Amino acid sequence: MADLTDSADSRDALITANLQRWFGLPSLRPLQREAIDAALDGRDSLVVLPTGGGKSLCYQLPAMIRDRLVLVVSPLIALMQDQVDGLRLLGVPAAAAHGNLSEAARAELRTMAKNGTLRLLFVAPERLFQDDFLRWIVTRDLAGIAIDEAHCISQWGHDFRPEYRRLSELRERLPGVAFHAFTATATPRVRDDIAAQLRLQDPVTLVGTFDRPELVYRVLPRHDLEAQVEEAIKRHPDAATIVYCIARKETEALAAALQRRGIAAEAYHAGLSAELRTQRSADFRAERLNVVVATVAFGMGIDRSDVRLVVHAGMPKSLEAYQQETGRAGRDGLPAECLLLYSAADAAKWRSLMQRGGKEGEGDSGALDAQLQLLQQMQRFAGSVRCRHRAISEYFGQAYEDPNCGACDVCLDELEEVPDGQVIAQKILSAVVRTGQRFGANYVIDVLRGSRGEKIIARGHHELPTFGLCRDLPAARLGNYIDQLVDAGLLVRSDGEYPTLSLGAQSKSVLQGEHRAVLRMPKQALVARGSRRRDDSSRREGGVTRRETTELNAAEKELFQALRGLRRAIATELAVPPYVVFSDATLEELSLLRPASPATFLAVRGVGPKKLESFGERFLATIKSHCQEHGLPVDSVLAGEVLVPETSEGPEQSIAPPRPGNREAAAALFRRGVSIEDAAASLGRALSTTAQYLADWISEERPTSIAPWISASDEARVRSALLQSEDGRLKPIFEALQGEVPYELIRLVKAQLQNSSLGTDPPRA
Ligand code: ADP
Ligand code: ZN
Repeated sequence: MADLTDSADSRDALITANLQRWFGLPSLRPLQREAIDAALDGRDSLVVLPTGGGKSLCYQLPAMIRDRLVLVVSPLIALMQDQVDGLRLLGVPAAAAHGNLSEAARAELRTMAKNGTLRLLFVAPERLFQDDFLRWIVTRDLAGIAIDEAHCISQWGHDFRPEYRRLSELRERLPGVAFHAFTATATPRVRDDIAAQLRLQDPVTLVGTFDRPELVYRVLPRHDLEAQVEEAIKRHPDAATIVYCIARKETEALAAALQRRGIAAEAYHAGLSAELRTQRSADFRAERLNVVVATVAFGMGIDRSDVRLVVHAGMPKSLEAYQQETGRAGRDGLPAECLLLYSAADAAKWRSLMQRGGKEGEGDSGALDAQLQLLQQMQRFAGSVRCRHRAISEYFGQAYEDPNCGACDVCLDELEEVPDGQVIAQKILSAVVRTGQRFGANYVIDVLRGSRGEKIIARGHHELPTFGLCRDLPAARLGNYIDQLVDAGLLVRSDGEYPTLSLGAQSKSVLQGEHRAVLRMPKQALVARGSRRRDDSSRREGGVTRRETTELNAAEKELFQALRGLRRAIATELAVPPYVVFSDATLEELSLLRPASPATFLAVRGVGPKKLESFGERFLATIKSHCQEHGLPVDSVLAGEVLVPETSEGPEQSIAPPRPGNREAAAALFRRGVSIEDAAASLGRALSTTAQYLADWISEERPTSIAPWISASDEARVRSALLQSEDGRLKPIFEALQGEVPYELIRLVKAQLQNSSLGTDPPRA
C-alpha cells in the first residue's frame, strides 16, 4: 500500500478525489478523517459517533480508495438493504448476504465476488458464522471488517445481542485483518467492553461529540397523552414523526386515538403480521405515511433522514436507548424536536418487565442489575430540570461548555416556577414522614390525593393530617413534583424492586421553612422552535449558523416541495427509499442554489458524478421550469462561500447570479485563453462575475492548464494551501496567503484541483 502511505499530500488528494467521485461530498466531518486513516493504515479502531454523524462513510470510503473488499457486520437485514440500495445509486459495487436474496441478487453477488469487483459486503452475524459462508470469506482478500452497531456486543449497551459475542472468533480465522467497530452509543463502560470483546489491538479510539445541537429536547409530565401528542404533531405539520410507546397495545390505542383526531397515524410493533410490518415501514420510508406509533421494534432499520419529531409516549429504559431513539430525528442535520412525555409510573412498568424478562431468560442477574441501573439513570434525567443537552453529554462522559443550549425545555425557559411550590413540597415531604418513610411514590400520591384504598384505610392513613391535602392536583403532576424533589436531593428513592421514599439531608429545613424548595411546571402552548442545526462548515466557524442565512423563502420552499415530489417519484420507480436518492439537506441546498448546469449541480453537497448522471437531467429540468415560473434566478452563488457570511471584504455578495446566455459567450473567450479583464470587458460583466464563469468553465471543461489566468508561483501556493485545508473553504486560504492572492484566483485553482483529483478515468457505472 505504498501509494497510501507515501505522503500526507497524496493521501489527502486520494481522499478528496474519492469523496467527490463516489459520494459527491466536498469535505469530511469531524473524526471521519481519523477513522479513514485508521482503515487505510490497517489499524484496529473504535469509532463512536452520534447517529447521523457519518459512520458509514468511514468504512465505505476506504473500500473505494483501496479497491478491495470490506466486510460489514450489521444486525438487521433492513438496515443492510437500505445501505446497499444507497451505495448502488452511487455506483458502488455493494451487496448484502442474507437468506432473503432473490435468485438474481444471489447470482449477481456471486459474479461480483468472483471477478473481484465487490467492495462492500454486508452480513448479519448469524449468517457470518454459517460454515459455508465462513469457509468462503476467509479466502477473500479483505481490506478490513467493519462492525456496525457494535454496542450490540455489550450487555451494558441497550441492544445486547449474544451472536455479536462470537465475532472475536474471527480474529483467529482472519489474522492480519483489521477490525473497525462503530457505534452511536457508548458510555465509557460500553466502549471498554466493545474493545475487550472484539479483542481490538491497540485500537485507534475516536469519540465524537454526542451533542446534537439541531435537536430540541423537551421533557414534559404526561397528563393527557393523546392531547399532548396531537399538539406536538401539529407543531410539525406534514413532517415525518415517530411516537414510541413501551407496550404493543399502547401503540394501537394511541394510533387509533390519533386517527380519531384526524391524524393519519399507523401502529407498528413486532406482534403485527410480517406483511403489515413490511407494508407500514415501506409506506413510512416512501413518505406515504408520516406518523408511526411504534414500539422500539420500529427503529434500527428505519433510516428516513427527515424525521422532524420523535415523541416518547413513555420513558425509555435507558439514556442509551433514549439517545439512540431520539437520534433518529434530524439525521439530515436540520432542526427536529424530541419530546419525552414522562410519568414516574413508567419506571415501575419497566422494572417489572425487566424482572420478568430476567426470570424467563438465563437468569443472568448481572445483566438485570445493569438494566436496573440504566433505568434509574434515565429516570433521574427525566425528573430533573437541568439542561438536557448538558445532561446527555455528561452522561456520555463529555463536558458541555454552553451555559444555555438554546434547545431544550429548560434553557428555552419553557418551565415556570410553581407559585405555591414551597407549600406543595412541604405537603409531600410531610406525607412521606407521616407514613413512616416506608412507601413508594404511588402510595404517597394516593394519600395526598385522598384515595380511600383498602390499604390506606387498613393502615389508618386516611386519618393523617396530610390525607387529601393535594386533592386538586393530578396524580401525574404530583408524581413529577416528587421526581423533582428526588432530583434536588430533598427526597431519596431507594433502589430495588419496590423503591420507597425517605427524607434527604435538607428536607427538615424545608419543612421548617428555612430552606425554599422550587418546583417547576411547563408553561402553556409551546411553539415549534428552530434549534441550531448541524452544519459541516458553520460548526467550525463557531459563529453564525446556517439557519439564519439559509432560511428558504416561500418560492424556494415550493421548489423544495417540487423536488421532494420528484425524489419520491424516482424512488418509487427504483423501488428504493427516497432518502437514498438525495437527502433533504441536498434538496434544500438545491432549492437555495438552483443550479442550471451539470457543473453547478455537481457542486451541491451530496451530488457526485454518478447521481449527476442518473438524476441530473430530471432535477435540472424541474429546477429550471420552477424558476422560470416563479421568476427565481438560477445558479445562485455556491454553498460554503455564501452560507456562512464572510467579513466585510467578503467577495461573494458582489457576484451577480450569472445568466446562462453569457456563459456560452464566456466559454468561447476562455477557450481562446482570453484574460479575465478582457473577457469581463467584452461581456460587459463585473470582474468577479467573469471570474466565477471561469471557475465554472474550468470545472465543466477541465482544461489541462489554467496558466493563462494565474502565475505559476501563485498557482503552486494556492494548490499547496488547498491540499492542506480540511474543508476547502476559501477564506482560511485567503488568509493563509496573507491576502496576496485574490479570492477569484483561489477559486480557479480549487476548480482545477477538483478536476485533477477526479482523475482522468471517468466514473464507472
Ligand atoms: P450514522 O451511520 O453515523 O448514523 P450515516 O453514515 O448514516 O450516519 O450518515 C448520516 C448522513 O450524513 C448521511 O446522509 C450521509 O450521507 C451524510 N454524511 C456523511 N458524511 C458526510 C460528509 N462528510 N459531508 C456531508 N454529509 C455527510
Ligand atoms: Zn439546555
